[in-house]
This record gives sequence, C-alpha cells and structure tokens, in this order.
Amino acid sequence: MSDTIDQYDVLVVGGGPAGLAAGEAAARQGARTVILERQNEIGYPIHTSGGSWISDMRALEIPAHLYHPINTVFFVSAHREVAYHYDPAVACVVDVRGLYQHLAGRAITAGAAMRMRHTVEQTLIEDGRVVGVTVKNHVGERLTLRAPVTIDASGFSRHVGVRTEMGQAYHRYGYGAEYDLYAPNYPQDEVFLIMGSSYAPSGYAWAFPRGNGRVRLGVGVIHPDSEDDARRFLDTIIRDLPQLSERFQGASPIEYHTGLFPAEGPVERFSRDGLLLAGDAGGHGSTLVGEGIRYAMYSGQMAGRVAAAAVKANNASAAYLSRFDKQWRARFGREMDVSYQVNKRIASYGDAQWDDALGLMKRLTPAQVAQFMHGDYSAKLVLSILARNPGLLATGGKKLFDLILERINKPALQTAEG
Ligand SMILES: Cc1cc2nc3c(=O)[nH]c(=O)nc-3n(C[C@H](O)[C@H](O)[C@H](O)COP(=O)(O)OP(=O)(O)OC[C@H]3O[C@@H](n4cnc5c(N)ncnc54)[C@H](O)[C@@H]3O)c2cc1C
Repeated sequence: MSDTIDQYDVLVVGGGPAGLAAGEAAARQGARTVILERQNEIGYPIHTSGGSWISDMRALEIPAHLYHPINTVFFVSAHREVAYHYDPAVACVVDVRGLYQHLAGRAITAGAAMRMRHTVEQTLIEDGRVVGVTVKNHVGERLTLRAPVTIDASGFSRHVGVRTEMGQAYHRYGYGAEYDLYAPNYPQDEVFLIMGSSYAPSGYAWAFPRGNGRVRLGVGVIHPDSEDDARRFLDTIIRDLPQLSERFQGASPIEYHTGLFPAEGPVERFSRDGLLLAGDAGGHGSTLVGEGIRYAMYSGQMAGRVAAAAVKANNASAAYLSRFDKQWRARFGREMDVSYQVNKRIASYGDAQWDDALGLMKRLTPAQVAQFMHGDYSAKLVLSILARNPGLLATGGKKLFDLILERINKPALQTAEG
C-alpha cells in the first residue's frame, strides 16, 4: 500500500452515466471531486443497447448528434405484430460511447478529476462512517483516497454498497447478449421489440438501429425467472424471424456485448454515513423494459448535488444524506414501483398471453403507448385508455389496469418504502 493519502470532498466509484453525471454535478457545486474508473476507456466495454427518449436527452442537454431518432416501433409476439408511427420521433438510440465520453468531458470541464484504470478495492469505514476507499491503479500501486462523501456508481456490482451493509448482491436480474451489426439493408428508423418463447422467454428481444448502417440486435432474459441462455437466441432471431431475416440480409456483427441489469426495483436505502448509491448501484433503472441510462444520469446528478451540499454543510451524516433518498423517491419512486409490478407480471407471460397483450395494445394510440413505455403512469393515462376502450375491462387487461391504478394511488413515499 502506498503511503500517499489523497484527500477529496467527493469520491465517485465508476465512470458510467451515473458516476459521470454525479462527478459533474458535485464539481459544479465546488466540491473537489474524483471519478475512479476501473476500465481503460470510458464507454468500453459496452453493456447496454442505448434505447432512450429524445425529451430526456434534451432535458439532460445531450447534443443531438449523440442520439439517433426512431420513427416506427414494432411490437412482435408469436402470432401478432403491432406498429406505431411517430412523427416527430419521440424515442432514440444513443451513441453509447459518444454519450459517455461527452459526459466525461462535462465532468472534467466542471472541475472533476478522472482516474482511468483505477479499480476500487476496499472501503474504509471509521466509527461506522464511510471515509474513503483503497484503489489499485494502472501501474499496480495501491492508493488510499479519502473524502467525507463517497458515491457508489459502480453499476450492477454495487461494489461499495454490498460491502457496507447497503443490501445484498442482486438476485433477480436481466442478462442481455447483443450483436452490434453492420446491416446495410435495415431501415434506420425502425425499432423492433420481440416477445415470446421462441426468441426471448421471460424477457424480450430488440433491434435498435443507431445510424450509419449500424443496428444493435439483442436478447434479454430475466433470471432466475428463466434459466434460458440469452446468447443462444441471437442467431435464431436473424435466421427465423421473418420480419428481421429480411431486414438483416447482407448484415454481419462487428461487436458483441453482454451485460447485467438489476430487476428488483430500488434497494431499500441509498444513503448511510458518508455514502450514497446512484444509478444501477441503487437499483435506479426502470425494470419495465430494462431501461437505465437516463435514470442513471438523473440519479447521478441528484446524488452529486446532495454530496456537494453535505460537504458545504460539513455534515455527511446519514440523516443529511438521506435527502437524496427523499428527492429520488419523490421524483421516481412511484414510476419505478409500477414498472417493477408490471415487469414481474409480464415476465411470466407465455405466447398466448403476449398475443392477447398485443391485441389489447392495438387499441391504444401511439401517444398512449409512448407515455406508458416512458413510465409516465398516471390515473389520467389509465382512464383515458379505458375511456377509449371500455371493452378492456372485460378482458385480461383488467388485472393489469387495476394493479397500475392501485400503485398510482399510493402516496409516493409509502409506495417506495412499501
Ligand atoms: C443488455 C443490456 C441492455 C440494456 N439496454 C438499455 C437500453 O436500451 N436503454 C437504457 O436506458 N438502459 C439499458 N440498459 C441499462 C443500462 O445499461 C444501465 O441502467 C446503465 O448502464 C446504468 O448506469 P450506471 O452508471 O449506474 O452503471 P454502469 O453503466 O454499469 O457503470 C458502472 C461503471 O463502474 C465501473 N466500475 C465497476 N466497479 C468498479 C470498481 N470496483 N472500481 C472502479 N470502477 C468500477 C464500471 O467499469 C462501469 O464503467 C441495458 C442493460 C443491459 C445489461
């Protein structure tokens, strides 16, 4: 262990979207901030597909050249297909590496230091308070870094969280495998979401174009709900799903990605003395379709601001830092809760249920589908869907709508804690 001890105000573990946004936000508030990333490059290896929303990219001030707009969304089940057209586009596929490196540039501009190939190993705890970490750096030296606040943004591994009594390692999770193909015949404004036992049991498959002839084709399977291996379905989809085999003619993969996404809803607490958990480390992504990039950025921004405020107030106690939990739950608690309840239900759907679900979806407007997929659950949305389709109450959709209404009507904090 090196004798050197580096002192900061805020330590950020992980240079993914949560950590980079946290680092920028903390540094902007004047906190001496360092982001520690174990990999050699920001945005490598890629373990995400990059599906997101244009309104959020704008709200997060992401330049338009870093996301690719989508006009048509196809949902496919064993015997049905539904298509929705959007003009102007509302969904997008981000340039993952470009976006993350843009966020890194923003963090550096705000004053944060970035340390690449720095792997956080141990967490330092004194008098029950997290006071820093030890790190192995790019030349194999072991360093000690101390700060009043550490933000664990290490993603699925929750490296600091699991070592500091902030919950167990995730038990329910999505495992995704993906090709990134050069696919010259694939229409670049069409996304596919594919459900059913032939291609994605207990999960779904996707085709996400991202511009310049490139398309991400992936399969996600939820474990332990299913023991199937997502990797085995990739070639089958290209070969056997008629809608895609046609579009992927002449295509070939040039990257292969895998990744893990927590599918348990948020962890119980995101703060303790000297520590905050942000992004996937806190379970802050939506389990509806396994979407976490924009949420990681929002969560990181919130965590970074609270951390800097705690440093200014000279108070990194659990009581002070718990304002992060409150802010996050007030903004996202209800949405995450509904997404999780819906995901648990649809993860066990068989082919016939997916066919029925697509039959119901056919009756919804493109705007309603987008609002639902975006996670903007409101009683108004549910009631407007039912007003247009009173027949839904007599069908299998009733249980799902009842469940959504019940969770929406719970107070946000109670929902998040309950
Ligand atoms: C297959 C798949 C497809 C997905 N598709 C989408 C999608 O289409 N749209 C979407 O919005 N979301 C998607 N997600 C989810 C999304 O990728 C995550 O929610 C998001 O990456 C979370 O960001 P994060 O910053 O919390 O964690 P991460 O992106 O995982 O970043 C964590 C960082 O911490 C670093 N790190 C870990 N441990 C240490 C350590 N000990 N020391 C130093 N550094 C460390 C890692 O190297 C990494 O860079 C997908 C996930 C998977 C698995």
